[in-house]
Amino acid sequence: MASEPEVLISEVGPRDGLQSVAATMPTAHKLRWIDALHAAGVREIEVASFVPARLLPQMADAAEVVRHAITLPGLVVMALVPNRRGAEAALAAGVHKLTMPVSASAAHSLANVRKTREEMVEEVRAISELRHASAPHVKLEAGISTAFGCTLQGEVPEDEVIRLAVQCVAAGADESGLSDTVGYANPAQVRRLFRRLRAELGDKAGAAHMHNTRGLGLANCLAAYEEGVRTFDASLGGLGGCPYAPGASGNVVTEDLVFMFEAMGVATGIDLERLIAARAPLIAGLPSEPVYGMTPEAGLPKGFRQEKFHV
Ligand code: ZN
Repeated sequence: MASEPEVLISEVGPRDGLQSVAATMPTAHKLRWIDALHAAGVREIEVASFVPARLLPQMADAAEVVRHAITLPGLVVMALVPNRRGAEAALAAGVHKLTMPVSASAAHSLANVRKTREEMVEEVRAISELRHASAPHVKLEAGISTAFGCTLQGEVPEDEVIRLAVQCVAAGADESGLSDTVGYANPAQVRRLFRRLRAELGDKAGAAHMHNTRGLGLANCLAAYEEGVRTFDASLGGLGGCPYAPGASGNVVTEDLVFMFEAMGVATGIDLERLIAARAPLIAGLPSEPVYGMTPEAGLPKGFRQEKFHV
């Protein structure tokens, strides 16, 4: 008998990864990649971002990608929405979960979405009301970006991060997680912030979204795990280089994160060999992009055994 997964690995490559690279992956390749992730046992995927195609041509096929992904059994299909208009389009396409980025850095919020943090909390409220009215089963997550520091502003006060997360939940978000958008976080800081977040929000404290820009992605995930976090965002092949650090790997590599947990005996529900095989459609669809990952390069250790899952 396969045991129930103890952690949820939420794959963000098809959104976070693809939106950070200049090339556009053809739709057919995206669908093949998502199918391969699902076949490996991945049960939550952020598949697209609902933003105007003139701003992000990589995401022009968002609705088509969602319509395919929702046919995969057991998969929670998530999309990023920056505003109410995006949420309307995502709901019309049939997503199960909306994720909205809310910047903890005042400077980043203005630069990124030309809105203040207070205005973004109001946007969370509007989107929450919209889904309650038209699709009450749809979940809404507020991801607090730049929660561990910001390239524009530098330090982001921890009190402001926690206050914003609490405000988002009060405005109707089902959960609020913390994102290390630019790869500044360290494990001590991750522990401190998630401990506070969980003390304030209980089971509405959401995912850890860590970047590997300075090599601390896995250490930060482990620190969050030890504070009780059970949902982790990651990107296959580490796709999604940090735009502020050319050549640096961005998102935590899904393969390495799954290896870490499985090697520790923490079940992810994901078959590592099939997960590594899911790199093939990614590489085929974006042949000029580098992919990262220590585990896929080194291979699985001799004698490494994973419980097999019904996927
Ligand atoms: Zn990211």
